[in-house]
Amino acid sequence: MTGTIQPHTFRPRDLVGGHLVIDLLNTVTARDAGPIDWLDGYPRLLEWAGLTGHFAPADLTALRRLAESEPAGAESALARTRELREALHELVTALVDQGAPASAEAVGRVEGHWKQAVASARLTVRGIVPRLQVGVETSGLEYLHHELALQAFDLLRALPLERTRVCPGQRCGWVFIDSSRGGRRRWCDMATCGNSAKGRTHYQRKRGEDTGSGRR
Ligand SMILES: [Zn+2]
Repeated sequence: MTGTIQPHTFRPRDLVGGHLVIDLLNTVTARDAGPIDWLDGYPRLLEWAGLTGHFAPADLTALRRLAESEPAGAESALARTRELREALHELVTALVDQGAPASAEAVGRVEGHWKQAVASARLTVRGIVPRLQVGVETSGLEYLHHELALQAFDLLRALPLERTRVCPGQRCGWVFIDSSRGGRRRWCDMATCGNSAKGRTHYQRKRGEDTGSGRR
């Protein structure tokens, strides 16, 4: 992604992707125009992670302290998270774009991130469910990066392609999983992209009427 980095205070309405990893993809907006990356620092990544509800607040506090004492490590952990995000974005949008094969390069990049995560993970079995688990103790500042890479693997295995869409809104390009009952969701968010599209249609209709009356 070549774009600009811009500070942004994350709000619940920024999490409309329907999955933690899809919401990570949407920390870049306006991918259809000039992409704007909202992750302007490691503290911002922590802010976003807190909002998702996926991470324990105590872990995020531990990471905040670690980042303060190792700013260079935090910067590189953020850079790797961004790399993971961009590789996943390329892969997911290729999969959604029916028939377009994902580039081997993007697949290789996702594989690289996943391997790094697995190298720090422990295999745990709770009841009859085995899972790969990473933590702050083993991954340190890379914990979010590693957990997101593991979650990405789970998502890719079960991605409902016929329900995964890219919002056609202007300066948006967000990805989302349509979990509506009818499966006819078109916009990332009716309140933003949906409304502005409705506004434009209304405006165009008005303009059309005006032109018509002018001709009479
Ligand atoms: Zn949108």
